[in-house]
Amino acid sequence: MFDLIDFKAVLVIALIFIPLEQLLPLHREQAMTRRHWLNDVFYLFFNGILVKFGMLAVVGAVMLLIGRFIPEALTTAVQSQPLWLQAIEALVIADIGFYVAHRIFHAVPFLWRFHAVHHSIEEMDWLAAHRVHPVDQILTKSASYVPLFALGFSSEAILIYILIYHWQSVFIHSNTRIKFGPLKWLVASPQFHHWHHANERQAYDKNFAGQLPFLDLIGGTLLMPDQMPEKYGVDEPVPQLYHQQLIYPFVADAGSAAPIAEAAPAAAKAE
Ligand SMILES: [Zn+2]
Repeated sequence: MFDLIDFKAVLVIALIFIPLEQLLPLHREQAMTRRHWLNDVFYLFFNGILVKFGMLAVVGAVMLLIGRFIPEALTTAVQSQPLWLQAIEALVIADIGFYVAHRIFHAVPFLWRFHAVHHSIEEMDWLAAHRVHPVDQILTKSASYVPLFALGFSSEAILIYILIYHWQSVFIHSNTRIKFGPLKWLVASPQFHHWHHANERQAYDKNFAGQLPFLDLIGGTLLMPDQMPEKYGVDEPVPQLYHQQLIYPFVADAGSAAPIAEAAPAAAKAE
């Protein structure tokens, strides 16, 4: 049975990212205890419990439905590959699932209400990475995991993908000025993902990939200016406390929660 709260992982992440953001800050004026930081600490410790149970249910149900239709020859062929090749394939396939689900969450007004909680981040840092509505997290992650289980990737390959995803999802939100040089087209960086969160018109609905920016290049959604964004967040009134954010998608006014592209021209959205 997995731990409901992985205190060791939380500690390791905090011990890496708190000093890193102090040593190489992108927005120097941003305090460690910026607005709503305690709310994001709550996400860090408790959101994962809902997500774990939700994913077990969704991935389990989908596999139960589709499992019998997957040819054994296919899963055997996948498993017979060396681990390094399986890990690379798993990363690419999972991020395609992430890209598609993420783009759908931006395009469908009802789903955007869930995703707007994540886009309500106005000061980017490692802690803010955890502010994701459980429904958003469960469905988007399931879109990544289901193809991996369906194709029969080994548990080692899936574990490598999970470790890379976890590290990178925190890193790309962090308040650090680390740049990747030419690798920025291959590997998601803070530069790539900060633009996804920018509250600037040119950045709306850009940079959907979790780990591989070239998926956005293929999808026609890549934005990679050299400078970094000045302003993050959304203009719609996402509430500030965890329990309010949980129910927000169900009670939000349909007009205010619509993706910006379809809302009033003066409005703005980011993530
Ligand atoms: Zn988004």
